[in-house]
Amino acid sequence: MATVTFDRATRRYTKGDRPAVDQLSLEIGDGEFLVLVGPSGSGKSTALRMLAGLEDVNSGTIRIGDRDVTNLEPKDRDIAMVFQNYALYPHMSVAENMAFALKIAHRPKDEIARRVTEAARILDLTEYLDRKPKALSGGQRQRVAMGRAIVREPRVFLMDEPLSNLDAKLRVQTRIQIAGLQRRLGTTTVYVTHDQVEAMTMGDRVAVLRDGILQQVDTPRRMYEHP
Ligand code: ADP
Ligand code: ADP
Repeated sequence: MATVTFDRATRRYTKGDRPAVDQLSLEIGDGEFLVLVGPSGSGKSTALRMLAGLEDVNSGTIRIGDRDVTNLEPKDRDIAMVFQNYALYPHMSVAENMAFALKIAHRPKDEIARRVTEAARILDLTEYLDRKPKALSGGQRQRVAMGRAIVREPRVFLMDEPLSNLDAKLRVQTRIQIAGLQRRLGTTTVYVTHDQVEAMTMGDRVAVLRDGILQQVDTPRRMYEHP
């Protein structure tokens, strides 16, 4: 069970300024793909980073399942995050990149091999496992970044504009892959983008932020019918 609940969560960077995220209340269902959309500066990344534990919450709370994670370290939140600048380790193979977090966590060797093999199969990376990142295309590298998140089998995935470095054609293709992958894995996902088309095509629901304030939360279909 991994619902995510923001309860009046607020982040203010500078005293006296308007909060970057202002009393955000939002419940994301178990297994749901929620897209957080809004113009640049609307507070999307800040909200995601608050959930990840990379940004302090000044007031309000954040829960994952029935656990209050507001003051937990990032590593104790059981989440995995994919960034737009997916820094892969250049000196490591694809397999090593994917295995790294599990090695650090001292998972048994056979379990690591099983998870890496499975993630590579799902992401269509099996034939690239021994290659270095520089020998891969942009889309393949993005899939390795996703693989590193998947192998950890987190309760929640966070993605911050993961497609913005890809060209238009690859972006459409990868968008479909990510949405399909999320549905197969059934992992609760929060996906940040400024791209409305991405939001409307990928999300089970779409949450619209503006100036740090949640404007609307609904399914793409209802949003289309009631803009
Ligand atoms: P988005 O992801 O929607 O582009 P951000 O969450 O990055 O929005 O930013 C929301 C607001 O918070 C913006 O006004 C931005 O300038 C401000 N902001 C973001 N990060 C910082 C920071 N580290 N220090 C001060 N202000 C910040
Ligand atoms: P090392 O031998 O230094 O651990 P490898 O690149 O051989 O580095 O592998 C890293 C991890 O990824 C290994 O622990 C292994 O479990 C897994 N792995 C490596 N190659 C494959 C592969 N071809 N298929 C599945 N898993 C692999």
